[in-house]
Amino acid sequence: MSATGEVSGVGRVSGTGSGSGGGGRVVVDVDGIEVRYGATRALRDVSCRVVEGDVLALIGANGAGKSTFLRALAGLRAPRSGTIRIFDEDTTRRPAHEVARRGLCLVPEGRQLFTDLTVSENLLMGCHRLGRDRDGTATRAKFERVHALFPILADFADRRAGMLSGGQQQMVAIGRALMGEPRILLLDEPSLGLAPAYVTQILDVVAELARDGMTVVLAEQNARAALRTADRGVVLANGVLTHSAPAAELLHDDDVSRHYLGMGAGGRDGGDGGDADPDGADGDGADGTGATAPRRLPAGLDRLDV
Ligand code: ATP
Repeated sequence: MSATGEVSGVGRVSGTGSGSGGGGRVVVDVDGIEVRYGATRALRDVSCRVVEGDVLALIGANGAGKSTFLRALAGLRAPRSGTIRIFDEDTTRRPAHEVARRGLCLVPEGRQLFTDLTVSENLLMGCHRLGRDRDGTATRAKFERVHALFPILADFADRRAGMLSGGQQQMVAIGRALMGEPRILLLDEPSLGLAPAYVTQILDVVAELARDGMTVVLAEQNARAALRTADRGVVLANGVLTHSAPAAELLHDDDVSRHYLGMGAGGRDGGDGGDADPDGADGDGADGTGATAPRRLPAGLDRLDV
């Protein structure tokens, strides 16, 4: 992660993040967007910038507009006004598939896996944007990368995704996104409902991705864990951006502490997790559930036209 990340906000913004400055290329530039659902103004005059290779934590309470912000970036909900530029291109009203082609991928809240497909088959779904890989070499390399980040996904390669714990499913969802080689990764509440060990592991991977140059926008109610991972943070409240500052500053901001850092188990003194997985989130053992012997790659990958 670079320490030079810069996010600028307009409106009621506190901290040092207002105004542009600092080094690094701005790859997400949001200017004054308003997003509505009918009469509901989910985002009002929201502006922020994200510098390449930074992690931006997007924090706020339920209904604050975090998911809407990510959906607007991903081309899933067009702003009524304002502009969004991704890698210097105006994507404000571009459809999601076009935005994805520019290298932006959203991992949605709730993960949306194909629960009847295996872990590897789910991962393969993430490659579709990239077109053909006739001999499977590039796809194998991507599997290896994802398995290096989340070794459990290699052990559970042939297990149906629906049989995994919440934390493991979140890893599949992030892995699937990485298979598409995004340059900007949007994560919507990746820690929701996960045991602390999984939260830590997932956020460690986020930090590692950023060290490798990926830009990440991390929407989280687990504000403390998110800010510890991030370079910068912004706070949304009722659709309005209220704070924009380096993450370390927000962690020590009285107002942010009072309103947001007590939320979620992660907000309580050092823990980074939410509620434990009902199915034993830390139970990573590959045995005991009748799964077939694991293979690292899906059968017949070399025959797949991916
Ligand atoms: P959460 O953490 O609960 O997911 P959030 O910060 O992501 O919350 P959003 O889901 O973006 O917030 O919701 C912002 C506002 O928009 C809320 O008032 C919500 O009720 C409203 N909203 C979100 N999606 C829709 C929809 N599909 N139709 C109508 N209103 C919606």
